[in-house]
Amino acid sequence: MIPYATAAEAEAALGRAMTWAEAAWFRYSATMPDYLLSCHNALILLVIHTVMPLPFLLLEHLAPAVALRYKLQPRVRLSLATFLRCYRDSARVFLPVVGPFLLVAYPLLKITRVRMGLPLPSVAEILSQLVVYLLVEDYLNYWIHRLLHTKWAYNNIHHVHHEFTAPAGFTTTYAHWAEVVILAIPTYLGPAIVPCHITTHWLWFSIRLMEAIEIHCGYDFPFSPAKFIPLYGGAEYHDYHHYVGGQGHSNFASVFKYCDYIYGTNKGYRYHKANVAKVA
Ligand SMILES: [Zn+2]
Ligand SMILES: [Zn+2]
Repeated sequence: MIPYATAAEAEAALGRAMTWAEAAWFRYSATMPDYLLSCHNALILLVIHTVMPLPFLLLEHLAPAVALRYKLQPRVRLSLATFLRCYRDSARVFLPVVGPFLLVAYPLLKITRVRMGLPLPSVAEILSQLVVYLLVEDYLNYWIHRLLHTKWAYNNIHHVHHEFTAPAGFTTTYAHWAEVVILAIPTYLGPAIVPCHITTHWLWFSIRLMEAIEIHCGYDFPFSPAKFIPLYGGAEYHDYHHYVGGQGHSNFASVFKYCDYIYGTNKGYRYHKANVAKVA
C-alpha cells in the first residue's frame, strides 16, 4: 500500500511528476494491502505455466508436418491425454506448494527488503538486477541439479522430472514437490542479495519460468531470439539432458552453458554432437 492518499501527495513526496508507469502503479496499488501484492507472483506464474506451453501443444496437434521440422525428438509424439495428465499432475504439485508459500510470501518479501511503493525502478536498475539474478540462479541451480543426480536424490526426488525423456511444455514443472521447493531457493537468492522493487520481482520470476518452459518445449526453432544470447543453453541443450536420462551426467545447466564447460559435464553432449555431425 502506498502511504499517500492522492497522486498530488505522491508527487510532492517524489519532488517531481510521476511517469506514466508510476501513475499506473499508483492507481493499481495505492489502496491494495502489501500482502495481496505479495500474492500476485503465484497467480502470474500459474497463468504463464498454463498459457505459454499451449502454442507448442497446438502446433504438434494442428500442424504436425510443420512441427516435425523443428521437433527435437520427432519420433516421440505425446498424446493430448498425456499433455493434460502432465498439466494436471504438475498443477497438483504446484498448488499445495503454493498454498503454504502464500502464507510466507509476505514475510519473505519483507526479509528480502523488496520495495512496493514509489519511485519505480529505472530500466538500468531492472536490467542490472536481472543480470545478477540470472548469474546467481544459474550457478546455484547447476550444483543443486548435480546433487539431484546423486543416487539417493535421483531415486527419491529427481526421477519424477525425468519421467519424460522427450520434454514438452507442461513437463517444465512436472517434478516432485521437494524439487519444486528446493529449486525455488536459487530463484529467491538473487533478490535476497540485491533487493528490488516488487514489479522487478514479478518480472524476474516470470522470466525464469518462461526460460524454463522454453528449454522444455521440445522444439529447436532457428529463428528463436534466445539463439542470440551468448552461452545460452536452450531447448536443444536441455533436451539432451532428458534424452540420456538419469544415467547420463551431462548438461546440468539451466540457463547458460559455462558451468558444464568449466566442470566438464558436457562431454557426453559434445561426443553426441560430434557423432551427429559425422553422420550428417
Ligand atoms: Zn536432471
Ligand atoms: Zn528438465
